[in-house]
Order: sequence, then structure tokens, then C-alpha cells
Amino acid sequence: MGIPDELISLSGYYGSNKDYVIAGGGNTSYKEGDSLWIKASGIPLAGIDESGFVCLSRLKLAEISSSHYSKDPFLREQEIKKDLMDAKKGDSNKRPSVETSLHNLLNFPYVVHTHPTYVNALLCSVDAKKLTKQLFGNEILFVDYTNPGYELFKQTEKELMEYRTTYRTDPRVIFLRNHGMIISGINPEDIHFESERILKAVEAQFKWKLPSTDDLQPHDLDITMQGDLDDYFRSLELFPLYRNNDLIKLFVNVKENFKKTVRPFTPDNVVYCKSEYLYSSAEAGKIIPDFESFKLKYGYFPRIIALEKKGLISLGPDEKSAASAMEVFQDMLKISFLSGSFNGPYFLTDEQIHFIDTWEAENYRRSIMS
Ligand SMILES: [Zn+2]
Repeated sequence: MGIPDELISLSGYYGSNKDYVIAGGGNTSYKEGDSLWIKASGIPLAGIDESGFVCLSRLKLAEISSSHYSKDPFLREQEIKKDLMDAKKGDSNKRPSVETSLHNLLNFPYVVHTHPTYVNALLCSVDAKKLTKQLFGNEILFVDYTNPGYELFKQTEKELMEYRTTYRTDPRVIFLRNHGMIISGINPEDIHFESERILKAVEAQFKWKLPSTDDLQPHDLDITMQGDLDDYFRSLELFPLYRNNDLIKLFVNVKENFKKTVRPFTPDNVVYCKSEYLYSSAEAGKIIPDFESFKLKYGYFPRIIALEKKGLISLGPDEKSAASAMEVFQDMLKISFLSGSFNGPYFLTDEQIHFIDTWEAENYRRSIMS
């Protein structure tokens, strides 16, 4: 028994559809008997093939739910990682997605988890819970925000058990606040039908049309100034990308607007863009000192620099990470704008951000050590 071709094409479809997946997020799975195939950690859905999946025993996965783990979240994640690796069938050396246990909870054969901009506009808004209920009644299971990994799994498990007891069925759609959605189905057609239906229903509630994200060329920055900046970033081994468009303009023209409206909404936002962004008036001799004091204050270089009335710069150690930061940050702007239809944006709290920051740092440190 191998991976069904349908899972591979389903995964590729959502992975390359920007309405559903930004910067390589999301994951997919299929179950049959005791086997669960899930996307491996660190492999993007777009262009995935058979080698991008891991097969696990559902019975062994279910044991994770009743096992006892360390109270320390970092030790706990290591312990669970080990149990996940032990649940693998076959000899793949790939690591299963951190959301594997979540997929195993659901009884439908196909499960697709994505981070659609439109759905997140609702899920990252003040009225998320109330409006989900109003729009979809009891058909959607709404799970409040919890730290990613084991805590999210346990919280979803608890809510799912209650849902099953009340409605005697599994929800086809799960909304994870400040994160994304999970769609389950018997076959890929089911998944497509539900996904499109949900996105359309949310879109119909938008009161304002999203400003254009078509690039404004040139991006408005003085050539000499850009040359100086490029030299400076290169000396730090950083790669800059410049963008401007109508959506960006709306946010970077006024400093106060920017600070009020642009904070991380989801764990991915923190992972790709960190949680603080530099705002600088785009005058010669200002940006570099602002950049330096930002680094001193926060202990990291800004992934995003907003230049007053000029646009955005994203930074990364290479072009790929600068591009991901730019893509994710623009998604944050879209969510911030669209959440205006749902009583305004609802950001992660400092404590929630801190958890992801340290989790990331800790994971990185451990990966370097091993
Ligand atoms: Zn996710």
C-alpha cells in the first residue's frame, strides 16, 4: 500500500495556491487502516512528491494523546518528537509535521490544513468567534488560540470530543484562531468543495475591497539612497528586497497607523518576520542609525523596514528568506485591512509571541548542537 496519487496532487494544488498557503506553510494527510501519510516537516506543499511524505502508525500516534510528558514545553516537544519518530513505518529519515497528532484526531481520510488570507482576516479579528457562529452556526469547530505544538493538539482534542458528544459527527471544518483552518473529507472533491465554500462565505462579508498589490515601479526610493543601503546591507551579509504598492502605502504613510495596525497575528508571522518592525522616515542619514538602534534594542536585525511614504524593505540572510518575509508581511497587511470588516484586528499577545520566539530560538539552538 503506497501513497495515493490523489494526496500528492491535492497537496500540490493547495501548496501552489496563494489564496491558501503563504511562504510554504500548511500540511496535508491521508489515512487508511492503521496508516497515516503526512507531509514531512520542512517540505513545502508546492511541488511535493512521494518522498515528501512520512507514513506513521495511527495506533502509535494515538498513544501520544494519553502519554505523560515533561511540564517544560521545550523538553516536552523533544519527547514528543521522539515518540513521533518511533511511530513511523518504513525507513524514511524525514520528520513528520509537528501537526501530525492533530491530523490523526480526525476520522476523515483526507485532511488539509492551510492558512488562507481571507479566513485569517476573520480569525485574526476582534469578532472572530461571534461571527464564525453567526456565519456558519455549529458546522465549524472554533478553537481558541493556544501555543503551537502539543498545547494546540490537546486543546483541539478536548474541543473535538465535546463536539462529537454534542453533534454525533466530526466537523468538516475546524477554525484555529489566529492561525488557519483544517478541512476534512472523504475525497479530494470534498476538500475542494468545502474550502471554496468557506472562502466565498467569508469574502462576502468584506465591507471594503483590498487595495491593489500590483508593484509600483520604480518603488519610489532615491537611487543613491538605495545604493548606499545596498552597500550597507551587503557589508552585514543581508539581502534586501524593496516593494511598494497601494496596500503598502496605506500602512507606511503614517507612523501612528503603522504601529497600531501592524503586529503579528499568527505563529508564522513571528517565525518569518519576527515581532517588531522598524519604521523610519526615509531620509538620507536616518535609516542606518535607526537600523543600528533597532538591533541594539531588540537583539536582532529587523526583517521588515517600513519607510515613511516610500514602501517596504524586507531583509534576510539570502534572497529566499527576504522574499518569504516580504510575502508574509504583506499577508499581515491584508489581514489587518480586511479584519476592519470584523471590528478590527486581533493580534497575538506579548506572552504568546514570546513563546514562539523562544521556541524557535530553542529549536534552532538544539538543531545546531545536534
Ligand atoms: Zn498551521
